[in-house]
Amino acid sequence: MPIALQSDGAELVAEVDRGRLMAHIETIAVGPRANVENHAAALAAANHADRAFTEAGLRPSRTDVSAVGVTLPVVWVEIPGSGCPAPAATPTYVLTAHYDTVPGSPGADDDASGVAAVLEIARILAGRPLRASVVLAVVPFEELGEQYPGAAALAELLVQDPGRSVQGMVSAEMLGYATQQRDSQGLPGDYLNLLAYEGSDELVADFRSAAAQWVPHFEVQAATFPADTAFINRSDNAAFQERGVPSAFASDGADFRTPYYHSEQDVPADISQEFLVDSARVLLAWLVLSAMREPTC
Ligand SMILES: [Zn+2]
Repeated sequence: MPIALQSDGAELVAEVDRGRLMAHIETIAVGPRANVENHAAALAAANHADRAFTEAGLRPSRTDVSAVGVTLPVVWVEIPGSGCPAPAATPTYVLTAHYDTVPGSPGADDDASGVAAVLEIARILAGRPLRASVVLAVVPFEELGEQYPGAAALAELLVQDPGRSVQGMVSAEMLGYATQQRDSQGLPGDYLNLLAYEGSDELVADFRSAAAQWVPHFEVQAATFPADTAFINRSDNAAFQERGVPSAFASDGADFRTPYYHSEQDVPADISQEFLVDSARVLLAWLVLSAMREPTC
């Protein structure tokens, strides 16, 4: 039976729950989760994600990654799509967030907010009949920058799987700060950015279209940038781009907007809850639009 896209998208985004998002953030962002300095706290955040995925009825996989002398897992789930007739690969869309922080910051916005969105989206999409597969993951080592070893391990695993074709990836990178004040770009800081690489035009078009259809009251600014633009490489999307996947990061603007960036004041009480809910809705809408349409096989 054909899936009624319009009604499905509206119904699904309405399920995003503010209380559940905030509960994840309050559990995870009790203190810093720096990969080395707060290794136990980082691991506790990974285990929280593992439990939340399991409670959603999914079976999380753990892929251990070692960097800077410590080991932490990428924790991820797949909501399988019906895909394409064999031997064609199953189209796959990926959403990630990072659970590590810089030393000294509880990282409620950066990036417990992204982790909360990934976990809430997993709860809503679990068991849904999809055409393309959706992979949802929380990763360590984002704050190391450069090679993004957590995201890179996941990207490697997915890209090398001959049974799938990764069509798009978004890193949920800070979804919890909005302000009516004009930010450094001269606009009130209450819209979500989607910063994508050149060549990710379909991803950008899908993201805009999903947001406009199902979260119409919420402003999204989506654009592509050359891969050598400094700020486009500031999150885990860089690891997927390097492996040929159209990719982007969704963000509240980080230090272009929030005064709490990488500070001890990045706490749950400072999260803009309305903005967080709408940001999670837009990410879910993008996955619904991408994974429920007839795949190109
Ligand atoms: Zn971050």
